[in-house]
Amino acid sequence: MAREPVEIFEQLCDSTREVVMLRSLEGLLDWDERTQLPPAGGEYRADQVAYVAGLVHQKQTAPEVGEWLDELADSPLAADSTSDHGSTIRLLKRDYEKKTCLPQSLVEELARTSVLGQQVWASARRENDFSSFQPILEKTVTLKRQESAAHGSSETPYDPLLDDYEPGESTKNIARVLGELRDALVPLVQAISESSFSPDVSLLERDYPVAAQESFGRLAAEAIGFDFQAGRLDVSIHPFCAGLGPGDVRLTTRYDPNKFNDAFFSILHEAGHGIYDQGLPRQHYGLPLGKDVSMGIHESQSRLWENLVGRSRAFWEHFFPQAQTVFPTALGDVNGDNFYSAINDVRPSLIRVDADEVTYNLHILIRFELELALIEDQLQVADLPDAWNEKYQHYLGIDPPTDTEGVLQDIHWGAGLFGYFPTYALGNLYASQFFAQAEKDLGDLSADFRRGEFSRLREWLNENIHQHGRRYTPAELAERITGAPLTHEALLGHLTDKYSAIYGF
Ligand code: ZN
Repeated sequence: MAREPVEIFEQLCDSTREVVMLRSLEGLLDWDERTQLPPAGGEYRADQVAYVAGLVHQKQTAPEVGEWLDELADSPLAADSTSDHGSTIRLLKRDYEKKTCLPQSLVEELARTSVLGQQVWASARRENDFSSFQPILEKTVTLKRQESAAHGSSETPYDPLLDDYEPGESTKNIARVLGELRDALVPLVQAISESSFSPDVSLLERDYPVAAQESFGRLAAEAIGFDFQAGRLDVSIHPFCAGLGPGDVRLTTRYDPNKFNDAFFSILHEAGHGIYDQGLPRQHYGLPLGKDVSMGIHESQSRLWENLVGRSRAFWEHFFPQAQTVFPTALGDVNGDNFYSAINDVRPSLIRVDADEVTYNLHILIRFELELALIEDQLQVADLPDAWNEKYQHYLGIDPPTDTEGVLQDIHWGAGLFGYFPTYALGNLYASQFFAQAEKDLGDLSADFRRGEFSRLREWLNENIHQHGRRYTPAELAERITGAPLTHEALLGHLTDKYSAIYGF
């Protein structure tokens, strides 16, 4: 006798939760590797990771999962694609098809090339030698084009790659929005550069003892709503946030005793990611409705807390007096206005990860335009360094003196991550769009921030974004929340208002 759809559905969910549990073990191994693992343990750790990854792949692509999905597709459970059951079936089907449409040989080749590509990239960057990186990057681009083709036909081969990070988004749409942003940002950056005002950033390079930085960062993360009963803060070389399961979200940062910005703003950034993970509906954990929707939306949450809240004047009206108490040597004689302009210093620079709130988007634009051209076969890898330098001159007015500080600075392309970069800019765009809507719904939030009060904003984010998991695509979510599709206007408006006031133009 045929089984009831509900029974099949439960079996599908159990199997999916098992995959998520394995993936959380992978995440725990990765967190441990980046924060605790002694160097000599690296080799065995690689074996452990490969073993768990194998189990994940096996479970994810098991033929019975495809059969269950087929059986459920025509069942009443799938009839309403927005119901809990319907959404879950629809999203699991999508995930399964994405995982199984690539030939095994291509998956293996991509994985091998990614590991090798990162190694070759690291030494090429160290030696400032692009030519040693060129062959493996050429191979990576070829494989990514094959990967794209395996997903079926699309308007541009970039679409399926972008879709891995930003489900449902199209290259055409983001190229338009990011292009509009670029055309408005280039003159804005120029106006800032030509301003006679220059913030005194040296006050951020005074004596900031690490222990005090840590306690102050924790204080701020807790104030904006990161729950330390359900999370941790540790140290790693590159800051990250790992959502390892319900009640277990881990942030990391790094400290430099002579730099205030690095640790403080990376803690706020990662706490923003963490608040999203902590806000996902627990009852759906392990299933699509309990998972974050996309890289761009995840980044919108970190950017919102880091920049729109954490670099605002109102935030520092509350926190600056406390910062003066915590860092008396560095900040005792500094006034709040000078501190505010120092943390909002804008200047065209070479390195993306050190870039300010304004120029950061241009760093992303450059990468997006170049990787799109590579994938569309409009640009050859051999011509990449020249194309890179030309765009840095054109958009930011600077000439990278070496490839190490230019085209070789990021790990992404060596690792085969094409389609990833634009999500950083989408994060900034969505953050501004959501923040503007939150102020429409809740009224001026700066009065809250001045009192050190962030719960109304956090609850608004939870209600409008976190609690939906993957029920809506990023574009649908933006449309539902703000009544408008993705646009560059909110971000541009925020940047123009804020920086014309600071730089006086
Ligand atoms: Zn982030």
